[in-house]
Amino acid sequence: MEFKTHISVRNLNVFYGDQQALKDITIDIPDKGIIVIIGPSGCGKTTLLKSFNRLIDSTDGVRVSGEVLVDGENIFDPKVEVTRIRKKMGLLSQNPYPLPMSIYDNVAYGPRIHGQKNKKELGRIVEHYLRESGLWEEVKDRLRSPASRLSVGQQQRLCLARGLAVEPEIILADEPTSALDPKSSRHIEESFLRLKERYTTIVVTHILRQAKRLADYVIFLYLGELIEHGPAEEIFENPREEMTREYMKGIIS
Ligand code: ADP
Ligand code: MG
Repeated sequence: MEFKTHISVRNLNVFYGDQQALKDITIDIPDKGIIVIIGPSGCGKTTLLKSFNRLIDSTDGVRVSGEVLVDGENIFDPKVEVTRIRKKMGLLSQNPYPLPMSIYDNVAYGPRIHGQKNKKELGRIVEHYLRESGLWEEVKDRLRSPASRLSVGQQQRLCLARGLAVEPEIILADEPTSALDPKSSRHIEESFLRLKERYTTIVVTHILRQAKRLADYVIFLYLGELIEHGPAEEIFENPREEMTREYMKGIIS
């Protein structure tokens, strides 16, 4: 399949102490659309995702070799400014961590840091991104109340809105619905589907049904190795590797 590459991973190895979590991963990740990373627990999904924004660096005892090129630039080059790379990316983790401030201030936080002071404009931005994350209708009458009063599912949607408000190019999401109620999970999935024409959205999940609902492109990892990757319909309907077939059938997990 021909596509424009957004992130290019070249011979990536990641070790935690003596244990190798990723083994010589080489893959081109398409620009735009939803890329889903699947595989059983402990296979290296989170490690791979954390390599894309160098969050992996903040783990003790970690050693990385190889390259990750984002828009053609090797982000592991010591000269690269990590903050500039991270500005291109929004991150959603398994559990939402809203900032200890109001709903409004959470979304306005990034734009304010980037110099936006105009109240009217900030109001517009806050509404826009809360709509994008499917939260607006539920919070429009209590924007000034603390984010901590929201349910976990609402907090996750707030974190998505906060991330989008800094206008990233890439959304990284690590099992973003695993702690959520069904309604919030649906909202998060719908947001990803709505946004996928504009962002490269990389979602880690171990829920095969979710992967099928979301994926344009699939990366299947097993025990730190890249087993197979390709367009979703190929991987789900006609995988080349026996290991992928077994995983799809639930034989290995
Ligand atoms: P997944 O997200 O697919 O469940 P991870 O990337 O979290 O997998 O982990 C891959 C492997 O690396 C696992 O064997 C895990 O135990 C190990 N690992 C992950 N984080 C650490 C860490 N901070 N220290 C040591 N080992 C780790
Ligand atoms: Mg994980």
